[in-house]
Amino acid sequence: MGTLALGLAHEIRNPLNAAVLQMHLLGKQVDREVASKDARASMRDRVQIVVGEIKRLGRLLTEFLELARPRGLAREAVPIGEVLDSVIELHQAEASMRGVVASRVEQGPKDARVLGDREKLRQVFINLFVNALDATPSGGTVRMTTRTRGGRVVIEVHDDGGGIAEADLPRLFDPFFTTKPGGTGLGLSIVRKILEQHGGAVIVRSKAGSGTTVEVELPAAADAPPTLPNAPPGATNAAPG
Ligand code: ADP
Ligand code: MG
Repeated sequence: MGTLALGLAHEIRNPLNAAVLQMHLLGKQVDREVASKDARASMRDRVQIVVGEIKRLGRLLTEFLELARPRGLAREAVPIGEVLDSVIELHQAEASMRGVVASRVEQGPKDARVLGDREKLRQVFINLFVNALDATPSGGTVRMTTRTRGGRVVIEVHDDGGGIAEADLPRLFDPFFTTKPGGTGLGLSIVRKILEQHGGAVIVRSKAGSGTTVEVELPAAADAPPTLPNAPPGATNAAPG
């Protein structure tokens, strides 16, 4: 199934790329050869719509693969703060363009570590962050907080966007459920799948009109290895492994 899905994805992506390229050329030709300004504008709009739909197909493909393709999970101590910082950094430009302030707060012990796969966890928080960003109007904030609870690390992604209608709450994690024109509806399905693989959990708290908090819980990694500079004199640091 994994190899088949990969091969099919490749076969689909090539013609999609070719189609985007042709649309790009068509757009240029329209600019050159269509005399009427109104006709030009309306043709360019149509080209943009086609390009938008092709891009949506591309996203669908990427996200579907993420769900369909089995891959072994790494199990390492992941400093979750670093992951969250990298997610913010990745979307910083987009956030400022939309007038949204993104921030991170450590409420618990510093440098909490989660047991799991760094790349998969990053995917989780990218999906949650992008959803929060999509929901938040200009002037709003997206905040990610971390703390620990027992042997678990709790990460909240909070936004003060439009919130979620009560009727939609039970369907959020259904594959293909989306309320966005260009949405794939696969983001939260991926989040749930990855968290299940990690022995984690996710809860969404929201009300229409009053923002959303997504709470993720993950197993904490066992004690962080001692850091050399703070080790007492004479202490030996056994090399891990
Ligand atoms: P997509 O983002 O492609 O729509 P997701 O699975 O990521 O798919 O999200 C599904 C739906 O859940 C969204 O279309 C939206 O209606 C709702 N949703 C998720 N996160 C939020 C949020 N932070 N605020 C408001 N609605 C949200
Ligand atoms: Mg999404």
